[in-house]
Amino acid sequence: MGSVAVGEGAQRRPNVVALPAELVERPGGLPSHCARHGLPAVRRADFALQSKVRIEGSRLRQVGVLGAVGTAERLGQHAKKVRVTHVKGWPLCTVCSRTRAAWLTVSCVMFFGGLLAFAGSLIAGVLAEKGTVPALAGVAVAGFVVMILAAFPFALGSMARIIGASTAPEGGEVRVVNPSQAFVAELPGRTD
Ligand SMILES: [Zn+2]
Repeated sequence: MGSVAVGEGAQRRPNVVALPAELVERPGGLPSHCARHGLPAVRRADFALQSKVRIEGSRLRQVGVLGAVGTAERLGQHAKKVRVTHVKGWPLCTVCSRTRAAWLTVSCVMFFGGLLAFAGSLIAGVLAEKGTVPALAGVAVAGFVVMILAAFPFALGSMARIIGASTAPEGGEVRVVNPSQAFVAELPGRTD
């Protein structure tokens, strides 16, 4: 095992590099340049990288309130199919780190801002004059919607999105889409 298969249509995409799980899960086994930008790593990240699972139903419905019941059903389906690789010391450059921090900050601000608007308007509604209640209800709904929409920047800041990689559907390897030259050059046993 140990060697790295480059390209060869691991998926239908032209440039997908497959890294064996034992390489990715071993601390210090990964290159010192980031896979996306090819810049020197400023920090190393440990995280669990999931496989992409094709689930019936549109993405929007999974996030929306109306899709809540369907989501619960699909979560069971998801748990059965998903494979996880425990990545150790993935290289992240300044651009990767900054992009991730920015999306997570946006998500956090939206979530807690929404929560504050939602909870605040409920409390204000209890104390308020009758006439202002409809307006407060509007604020509560808007706050709630913003809380849900915080899932989108959160997904954009996810490690899988930032590094452009995911675990193979059958497990055992991590697939990196369009990795940088600097990253590929440092992989052990590369075949090209
Ligand atoms: Zn980077």
